Amino acid sequence: MSLERSHNPSDSAPQADASPLLDVKSLQTFFFTGRGVARAVDGVSFHVDEGEVVGLVGESGCGKSVTALSILRLIPSPPGRIVGGEVWFEGRDLLSLSEGEMQSIRGNHISMIFQEPMTALNPVFRVEDQVMEVIRQHRRVNLGEARERTVELLREVGIPSPEVRMKDYPHQMSGGMRQRVMIAMALACRPRLILADEPTTALDVTIQAQILDLLREARERTATSLLLITHDLGVIAEMAHRVIVMYTGRVVEEASVTELFTTPLHPYTQGLMKSIPGIEAAGAGKRLEAIRGVVPSLYALPPGCKFNTRCPYAFDRCFVEEPWLILPEEGHPVRCWLYRDRDERPAEENQEKTAGSPAPRESRGEAMKEADHV
Ligand code: SF4
Repeated sequence: MSLERSHNPSDSAPQADASPLLDVKSLQTFFFTGRGVARAVDGVSFHVDEGEVVGLVGESGCGKSVTALSILRLIPSPPGRIVGGEVWFEGRDLLSLSEGEMQSIRGNHISMIFQEPMTALNPVFRVEDQVMEVIRQHRRVNLGEARERTVELLREVGIPSPEVRMKDYPHQMSGGMRQRVMIAMALACRPRLILADEPTTALDVTIQAQILDLLREARERTATSLLLITHDLGVIAEMAHRVIVMYTGRVVEEASVTELFTTPLHPYTQGLMKSIPGIEAAGAGKRLEAIRGVVPSLYALPPGCKFNTRCPYAFDRCFVEEPWLILPEEGHPVRCWLYRDRDERPAEENQEKTAGSPAPRESRGEAMKEADHV
C-alpha cells in the first residue's frame, strides 16, 4: 500500500530555481510576562535547502526550540507571540496562513520530533491510535489501511513485532522505543521537512547512536530535509551539512559543518568547541575548558554585544554597540566586532549601520592579545 502524497515532481527533486525549502526571515518571537518582555527570538534569519540537514546549536535558553515552535506556529499564546518576520515554505509565508491551513501543514508537510517522547506522546492512548491519528488526519484512508501503514512505519523504525507492540501504551515502552514511535509519527505522511528538537538528549549513549542512525537512514531514504536542534556538537558533526549557532535569541555564526569545526570564528562558538570532552585531553589530565559566566537573562540583556559579559576578547565597542552579522568569508557570517575589518559585503550595505557608531577606544588587536593571557 502506498500513502505517498501525490505531489508534483518538484516535491522530491531538488528545486530547479534553487530557492530554499524553508526560508526564515527576521523572525521575532517575544514573551510578554509580568517580569517584562523576553525577546526569545530576535531577528533570526536562516534557510534550509531541499534535502539538507541544518543544525541549530547553542546553550539552553538561546531560542532554538522557540524558533522551531514559531515555524509551526505552536508558541503558547499568551504569553508568547510572533511579533515580526516571515517564514517561507513551499512558496507561502506560514505566518500569514489561517489556522486551518496550518493544520494541513503540521505533521503533513512539516513534522516535529520532540525531545522527551514521554511527554509528547499521550499516555492514555495506545501507540497504534496515536500513529493512526496522524495518518487519518492527512490522508483519505480507512481504518484497515491506516493500521496497515502503522505496522509498516513501526517496522521501518526498527520496532520488533510491530503488530504486537503497537497495542502498547507509551509507558510500556523504553525511552528508545518511544523515540522510535515519535520518528514513525514524524515520517507518517512523508513530510518534506522534519524539525527535530533535541531528539537524542533524553536517551543513553548507545540508544542515542541508534536513533541518529535511524534518523540518518530515514532522511536519506525519503530525501527529507532536517532542521536538527541540539546543544550537542558531536551530534552536529555526525549529521549536519550546515550549522547555525544561536545565542540569546540571535544567530551569531553560520557555516558549513567542516568550516565551523575547523575555523570557528565567534568567541562563543570557540568556547563551545573547547568544552567538548576529548579522549586526548582526558589522557593528558587536562581540565575541560568551560565558557565563563552564565547566559544573561532575557529580561536583562546587556547593551552592545550580548556575549560581552562572557567574552575573553571583549573591547570597548562591544559594550556600546551590538554587532550585525559580518561576512569575513563567503558563506560564513559572524556577529562579532573582531571581524569588522574583514567584512566582504559592499560598503553601502553597511553604511547605514556604521553611521554614527562610536569609534572603539581600544583596538581589536589589543583585546585579542590581552585575551591570550586570560
Ligand atoms: Fe566578544 Fe566583542 Fe565579539 Fe561580542 S563583539 S563576541 S564581546 S569580541
